Amino acid sequence: MPPAAKQLAQMLDELGRVTDEPGKLTRTFLSPAMRRANARVGQWMRGAGLAVREDSMGNLIGRVEAPTVGAKTLLLGSHLDTVRDAGRFDGALGVLLPIVALGELKRRGIALPFAIEVIGFAEEEGVRFSSAYLGSKGYAGRLRAVDLKFRDAQGISAGDALRAFGNGKFSLPPAPHRVRDLLGYIEVHIEQGPVLEAKKLAVGVVSAIAGQTRGRLTFQGKAGHAGTTPMHLRRDALAGAAEFILFAETLARGCEPLVATVGTAAVAPGAPNVIPGEVKLSLDVRHPRNDSRIAALTLLLDAAKKIARQRKLSCAWQPTQDNGATTCSPDLTALLEQSNRAVQRRSLSLVSGAGHDAVVMSTLTPVAMLFVRCRDGLSHHPDEFAMPADLDIALQVVIDFLLRLAKDSTQ
Ligand SMILES: [Zn+2]
Repeated sequence: MPPAAKQLAQMLDELGRVTDEPGKLTRTFLSPAMRRANARVGQWMRGAGLAVREDSMGNLIGRVEAPTVGAKTLLLGSHLDTVRDAGRFDGALGVLLPIVALGELKRRGIALPFAIEVIGFAEEEGVRFSSAYLGSKGYAGRLRAVDLKFRDAQGISAGDALRAFGNGKFSLPPAPHRVRDLLGYIEVHIEQGPVLEAKKLAVGVVSAIAGQTRGRLTFQGKAGHAGTTPMHLRRDALAGAAEFILFAETLARGCEPLVATVGTAAVAPGAPNVIPGEVKLSLDVRHPRNDSRIAALTLLLDAAKKIARQRKLSCAWQPTQDNGATTCSPDLTALLEQSNRAVQRRSLSLVSGAGHDAVVMSTLTPVAMLFVRCRDGLSHHPDEFAMPADLDIALQVVIDFLLRLAKDSTQ
């Protein structure tokens, strides 16, 4: 194992032990573990030659200036917060890998012609305030007043938590860059899915991040006695919901890369001897193309209405989240593909079904993403694992990419 990849694996191990909950990895927004993580990652940044600062959101930012005044800046990063009982690669890899890559370039005596910022976003997972991307939204100047009103389980608002974090003071971070001064944003992330493993590849390039619609679908029927109500007189909301769930599965199976998931079902009254009178389903629909996602959602809701009509139920849809798809930059992606072919001979294009900081960063600058294979596609779990050999390949790809971008921008 080359020393740089070994160093990266050790850093991931060490950061994976910086936690708020003994025995498992849990590091949430503005927590004591997050302060310790920022301090440790800041040390690593300084060791690789970066100047380190923290903004008022708790985002950790390391910067290497360009040799010439007026050169543009390339952003690289991911998030340093985690879910509860998390794996140690999700997020951390995209912060630590660029630091190691820059340390390696420094060791080789190579100065890039553009400035670089490596960002460890303070919040992506939405664990503490049930609102995701607070870190990258703050960095990109996209935070709204409503984002600061969300409350955690203790009733503390995000605004108050940020004030406490800033020793009584908080103001939104100023926009750090003019759009024209940026080259783009690159995020390295574990795949969190099984495609690279199935294709026997260490890394792949993301073409788009799927758009996502989420909401609640309520089927309303009539509760009744399970012993005395004949079958033909029933208005069973759960039977209707079940028919809908199977319809959603069949539809998505036939329309790859569409994915549709019913993840929760709340049945009322919820007793073995009572006909279900009401069922609330969650529905999550994702597709890399906005028009296809919207078309699928229309089909699903039409089917729900038809099922309800046939069963004498009523049905209502309440959307809770609607995020458009993010298309990755064709230029940065093409360059990343060249690096993939140079390092692992083959490049594979993937769609990200999960959201990432790159979604928010795409509102500021063109984005590209590199996915790294993870064992069994497993993520958000303590057994999440990326092989050191794969980390080495990802590291080589990022270094190769930086050198290609350097060549491009000096031509
Ligand atoms: Zn992540």
